Amino acid sequence: MPDESLPIPDAGRRGDASPARFAFDNSYARLPERFYRPLAPRPVKAPGLVKINRPLALELGLDPEFLASPAGVATLAGNHVPMGAAPMALAYAGHQFGHFVPQLGDGRAILLGEIVDRGGVRRDVQLKGSGPTPFSRNGDGRAALGPVLREYIVSEAMAALGIATTRSLAAVTTGEPVRRATALPGAVLTRVASSHVRVGTFQFFAAKGDHEALRLLADHVIHRHYPNAATADRPYLALFEQVIRRQAALVANWLLVGFIHGVMNTDNCSIAGETIDYGPCAFMDAYGPETVFSSIDSQGRYAYGNQPRIAHWNLARFAEALLPLLADDTDTAIELANAALNGFSPLFSEALLAGLRRKLGLFTEDAGDMALAQDLLTAMAENQADFTLTFRRLGDAAYDRNADTRVRALFQNPVAYDAWAAGWRARLAAEPLDGPARRAAMHRVNPAFIARNHRVEAALSAAVDAGDYGPFEELLTVVAKPYEDRPAFAAYADPPEPTERVYQTFCGT
Ligand code: AMP
Ligand code: MG
Repeated sequence: MPDESLPIPDAGRRGDASPARFAFDNSYARLPERFYRPLAPRPVKAPGLVKINRPLALELGLDPEFLASPAGVATLAGNHVPMGAAPMALAYAGHQFGHFVPQLGDGRAILLGEIVDRGGVRRDVQLKGSGPTPFSRNGDGRAALGPVLREYIVSEAMAALGIATTRSLAAVTTGEPVRRATALPGAVLTRVASSHVRVGTFQFFAAKGDHEALRLLADHVIHRHYPNAATADRPYLALFEQVIRRQAALVANWLLVGFIHGVMNTDNCSIAGETIDYGPCAFMDAYGPETVFSSIDSQGRYAYGNQPRIAHWNLARFAEALLPLLADDTDTAIELANAALNGFSPLFSEALLAGLRRKLGLFTEDAGDMALAQDLLTAMAENQADFTLTFRRLGDAAYDRNADTRVRALFQNPVAYDAWAAGWRARLAAEPLDGPARRAAMHRVNPAFIARNHRVEAALSAAVDAGDYGPFEELLTVVAKPYEDRPAFAAYADPPEPTERVYQTFCGT
């Protein structure tokens, strides 16, 4: 059980008489207390506004002006608990780099509560970096400004790309240092998620043999994320199948934009199928399936090309946790789980192939399409071709052969492109779409702008080292519209110069 001796402010500290700014309706708080610890965020010295995500605030029915006001910033820093909140740290377990840890939990985050947004979707509002909790172990419960800004930028970039993800509602500074390798400015991120239930949440109860809690959690998740599973013959099996489906689609989408999560532990695997917990994540520049950025992933377990295999592995851990719910006898449960799990690879391959076809401008299906795509990827890997630019420029080349020059220039040996392009053109000849329509369709799926790592690092260091948020703001502006060519920001499409290249990213925990 969590350490109860920590001097932690109690959760009873509620908002004053200010009008309800957040229309909270807290369903997780209605689950038994062994799911979480009620607990308020720990106040900080001097809250400072960095960023409010205005469009997201409006989606949530929140007033961006209020959030940016001193009272709003105090709330986002954890100094004031808004009316209607049910602040708590969530319990979960997880496999970290393959090793099971029976108790992790929110060691530096507090769920304030849930809001049903304007589209009728229930969303968690969580403060990350909000101080110690009973799950903090040796951590300080805090977050440094750099990682908070990284999560803000990359999660918003992913959302703009159309990939399922948690969102960033706000970033504030705390006015307090956090001690890492050096002292760094502290910050709090306000994260919005469909929910914070993870594979590790199920593992937490499974490891304790608490089948009643497993069932309550599964029912909560079905009600919240997979309502049609409730009417299936076997609702918990249907839940499992639908989680598999979403993970397969999610990881395919990651690969299609060159995203590397970096820490695909089971506690960072969302049951709702969102990208969650942006740590040492990055988009790759030059294509290479073995690409790793995370400083803590020396074995390459979470390398770009390993992500589908790891998602499958994580889902197998989910299956183990769910077994008691799948059938009364274990053999049947295992059989059902395995049959469902076998669906992952075909679902993933299908999603990947469909995405690759769109990226190549193919709108009909041909048996040779995967080989065609794979040949391009192989040539790109052998020639250090930039992943994002290659596909973006293919859209132009599909319209105008003269644009080939700009694609082949991305390959160390441009002839490798020529050989492939001949086959691609032959295949395009069988397609119904004409040039301009095909280019437009390709540009809708092949981003011009990703949150390139060297740009992210530059934005972070300007903010952290010089208090200059200009690069952070500009990068956010660029990644908010990834599929539009915007000449004013053309330099953001460029890969790093050799001297700008970033080889490692850090969790900063
Ligand atoms: P992460 O690597 O961010 O997914 O976190 C893994 C686990 O470590 C989670 O239980 C976190 O809550 C916990 N953790 C990470 N950083 C801190 C910190 N600074 N203080 C306390 N707990 C932390
Ligand atoms: Mg985590």
